[in-house]
Amino acid sequence: MPQKPRFRFLMLGFLLLGISLFASGLQAAPVRVASVHKLGPDLYAYISNNDSSANSTFLVADNGILVVDTGLNEQEGRKLLDEIRKVSALPVRWIVNTHYHPDHRGGNSTVGPDAVIISTAYTRERTLGPKSKATEASGPLPVYETISSVTETLVLNVGGHEVRIYHTGPAHTLGDLVVYFPDQHAIATGDLFLTNSCPAMDDGDMDNWISALDHMLTLPIDHVVPGHFEVATKEQLLRFRGYLSELRQQVARMKQDGLSLEQLQRHLDMKSFKDFRQWPQYEATFADNAAAYYKQLGSRSDAPRHPQPAK
Ligand SMILES: [Zn+2]
Repeated sequence: MPQKPRFRFLMLGFLLLGISLFASGLQAAPVRVASVHKLGPDLYAYISNNDSSANSTFLVADNGILVVDTGLNEQEGRKLLDEIRKVSALPVRWIVNTHYHPDHRGGNSTVGPDAVIISTAYTRERTLGPKSKATEASGPLPVYETISSVTETLVLNVGGHEVRIYHTGPAHTLGDLVVYFPDQHAIATGDLFLTNSCPAMDDGDMDNWISALDHMLTLPIDHVVPGHFEVATKEQLLRFRGYLSELRQQVARMKQDGLSLEQLQRHLDMKSFKDFRQWPQYEATFADNAAAYYKQLGSRSDAPRHPQPAK
């Protein structure tokens, strides 16, 4: 039976061809790497290749480096620091944490162990805990400069570059900062803006969030560094504002009409934003965002208008 061995060889050939095609398919899959973009004089955006770890922005001055957000953990902080070191060997002297979520501040001790950390008081408390004390095991606590009031804007002069740090009030969380670089017409938004994506929402405030975006849109801006994903334009920031305001309007109207959360989520029509990332490309869906705002509306109307006497 001479055909059988030949048939076997043929099968083996197909199998090997299959394996080699499969292998070349694996090789062809693009490997994402973190990227660094020069936005203007001495200013750089670090775009993470890990969607679970935030982007960063760094300003290199002759008296040290300022970094906005440091990534999820030591490993992500190390990747960021390696990129900073390709530009400058100077110490990282200031770190701004836009908010308390670990993907924005987990790399602090790796990126700038001796840096002053600038955050809202709320972020500091959520990061360290209300009764933080240095122990022998934990070592000394980092030095913080906190911003507590929305009327307070911290203006720094970093090597001749102005840096304006705004406290937006509750927005994505109960204590967010955005960092504006007027010389370079650039802004680092933290998670108040994600490029072509619906956001994740914490216990923030939608109305205030939209007002904060409106304020940003009044500024001269050429580059927007989002909390996650690629560097964006002012038009993309405006479109994201459009998403939040459309969601706000639909949820408020349907709630007023007496629809339950489940009914309203079914009727939500966000087709004009269907290109935005949602779960599983990112953490949340349009329906999740609707639920977060619905909860905000509920907590407002449920709250007593006047202090109730204790019974
Ligand atoms: Zn966040």
